[in-house]
Amino acid sequence: MSIADSVLPGFTHAAAVKFMAKSSATIRALNARMKKKGFSGNLPLAVGRQAMVDAIQKPCRYCGEVVKISTVSLDHPTPLARGGAPFVVVGCCLSCNQKKGELTAKEYLGLRAFVGAMSPEAQEYIWRAISAAGFFWKMQAQANGMRMRNKQLAAGGKPPERKRKEDAQNTLGYA
Ligand SMILES: [Zn+2]
Repeated sequence: MSIADSVLPGFTHAAAVKFMAKSSATIRALNARMKKKGFSGNLPLAVGRQAMVDAIQKPCRYCGEVVKISTVSLDHPTPLARGGAPFVVVGCCLSCNQKKGELTAKEYLGLRAFVGAMSPEAQEYIWRAISAAGFFWKMQAQANGMRMRNKQLAAGGKPPERKRKEDAQNTLGYA
C-alpha cells in the first residue's frame, strides 16, 4: 500500500498513481496562475488534493455529471478577480470550469438555469460559444506572454523561467 493508495482509497493502484500526477500538475498550474495575478503563497498540496478527492466519483456541483480523475479540475467558487480567497477551492468538472470563467458559483448556476430553459440547439450553441471565448482569451494571454518574453530577450534581458510542460497543458480551463 503506497501513499497514492491511501489518498484515493477504493481505487486501483494505477488510478491512484494517475490521480497523484494529475493533482500535482493541476495544483502547480493553479499556483502559477495565482502568482501571475499577484497572490503570494501557494495553495497547500494537501488542500488542493483533498478538494479534488472530494469531487471524484460524485456529481459535479454545477452540472451533475459524475466527475472522474480524467475530468476533475479545481475551481475558485468566487474567482480571484472577484475577490475570492486564494485558498478556497472546490473540485468540479473541467467542462464547467471552462464555462464558468470569472463568474461566481451563484452566477454560473443562474446562467445554467437560464440556458437550460432553451432548446437543445440553442443550449449547444451558447455553451460552444462560451467555451470558445474562454479558449481564445487564454490563447490571447499566452500570446501576450510570448511577446513579453521576446521583448525581454531583444532588450538583452534574461527570459523568464521556462514554463513547465504540465503547466502549459493545464493552462486551459481553470479559473
Ligand atoms: Zn460540471
